[in-house]
Amino acid sequence: MLSFSTANVWLKSPAAVFTANNEDAKGGVVIRGNTIIELVASGQTPKTSIDHYVDCSNLVMTPGLINTHHHFYQTLTRCVPGALNKPLFPWLTFLYQVWKNLDPEMLYTATQLAGLELMLSGTTTVADHHYVFPKGLENGIDIQVEALKVLGCRATLTRGSMSLGQSQGGLPPDSVIQTEDLILADSQRLIDTFHDRSDEAMIQIALAPCSPFSVSKTLMQDTAQLAAKNDVRLHTHLAETENENTFCLKKYGMRPLDYLESCDWLHERTWLAHGIHFNPAEIKRLGAAKVGIAHCPSSNMLLASGICPTVALEQAGCNIGLAVDGSASNDCSNMIQEVRQSLLQQRLRYGAEVITAERVLSYATKGSAAVLGRHTIGQIKVGYQADFAFFSTNELRFSGVGDPIAALVTCGAHQVSKLMVGGQWLIEDDKHNQILQDQIHQKHQQLAKILQSKVP
Ligand code: ZN
Repeated sequence: MLSFSTANVWLKSPAAVFTANNEDAKGGVVIRGNTIIELVASGQTPKTSIDHYVDCSNLVMTPGLINTHHHFYQTLTRCVPGALNKPLFPWLTFLYQVWKNLDPEMLYTATQLAGLELMLSGTTTVADHHYVFPKGLENGIDIQVEALKVLGCRATLTRGSMSLGQSQGGLPPDSVIQTEDLILADSQRLIDTFHDRSDEAMIQIALAPCSPFSVSKTLMQDTAQLAAKNDVRLHTHLAETENENTFCLKKYGMRPLDYLESCDWLHERTWLAHGIHFNPAEIKRLGAAKVGIAHCPSSNMLLASGICPTVALEQAGCNIGLAVDGSASNDCSNMIQEVRQSLLQQRLRYGAEVITAERVLSYATKGSAAVLGRHTIGQIKVGYQADFAFFSTNELRFSGVGDPIAALVTCGAHQVSKLMVGGQWLIEDDKHNQILQDQIHQKHQQLAKILQSKVP
């Protein structure tokens, strides 16, 4: 009998398929092991001989969604009363007093809960930006690797950093910052230990100083050098609010993008969370440098930060990926809902004819893959990894729809029926196959209560 890894499996006749590249796969997809080996056109049967098939009728199939920016630990501080209804800087200043009490068990559990939320909403590749390293949490990224292995999704984990505490004019309390030597040494250790350069990579590492207002210029420059030396990607928050422009002008005598360029970050290796407050000349420079943008519509609306100029950035040459951002500024980690938020928000700026369901789904798949520097995920294409989300159309919200792809976005799909990563079914019948969801949920609630009891 053929084992699963050598069998040709036909994911047969979905209700609709979004491939992210206009190829016809209406008849389904044939996979072998972790790889797509054939797309079956409308009304056709596979040319490859088939060992098994899985009936996918009543399911809308997309490439696994890819989240490009998150802070998993923030799932423990959703809707904390003292942080509600505040813009970014006072919101951050308040929450740092809570986050400085984070411990290893909290980070492990928060990573699993956020990962699970993302997977249930169609995500097969997650990115996290962890930058809070209080005493006792020095191995935070190692903890996240362990937590995600159990879930089975792919991940780009960014080694975040903060070196500019309140006593030096930064925003975070001094107890969560680290020395620059320690940050750089740990970054190198994590790359050596976990960074997988293969097309099939489950874990990749990127380097990610938190923002221009929480690290020194030297650390920004040294991090860029270390990333170049190791050929890994660079990530940070940039141009999220107008206040950030004021801060940069006051502290560095230049706007955030000029500062970024002065630190040798303006190139293809870099992706930026938010990317809202750029002027037209800056957008041109970003595009020419092929910088990636993690577009975070819910967070930007919740904190009233602004609207990312996605189409202008795309036309200039940037890759646009989608992201839910941290769960203290969203406050959920639902990726397919984020696709809907992008459509609604971006239509206000660019109009209904320009911002289509296909365009925003592309941000969450093909665009996000490009942002993370991944070449074999984010599309349904021969030779690509078998990472797929399947959404059932057999729900009240979809009753009566004409176009199932548009419906996925505008009718508000929120959970997958099935999810496959690298040819393995991880979610079936709306539940993760390998973990006890209720246990993680209960543990997470207990730990959130403990952390929030530390509110000043
Ligand atoms: Zn963020």
